[in-house]
Amino acid sequence: MARRKKSAKLVAYQDGMVATEPNLPLPLVYYPGHYGVFLSFGKDEKSEIFFCSCSRHAIANYIRFRIKYDSRINNDPQINFVLSKAKFPQQIVKKLIEQDEKAGQEVIDKLNFKDEICHECN
Ligand SMILES: [Zn+2]
Repeated sequence: MARRKKSAKLVAYQDGMVATEPNLPLPLVYYPGHYGVFLSFGKDEKSEIFFCSCSRHAIANYIRFRIKYDSRINNDPQINFVLSKAKFPQQIVKKLIEQDEKAGQEVIDKLNFKDEICHECN
């Protein structure tokens, strides 16, 4: 797992990036690869990983469009999965694939959400 302190311009350009951002309620920030948008947060490396509740609606929309319109023919199972590692933190994608590689819309029920933990809410 790549890990670095937050710099002024953190750009998540690789999979599995984690940054420590002490001003957030859950200071460990898991970044998606490839400029993806859905960040998640943890207390420490052993704690559960959460998405901010404010992103739930957007994630549900993402899943709906992904199932309806994406062909998903990539050879990389982590890109092919309903939550692509290009848009979601790899740590979460990897864990969900282990549970059910063919997951669909119901995958959102396997995600943890917590109120007011993201950059926008803080
Ligand atoms: Zn939020």
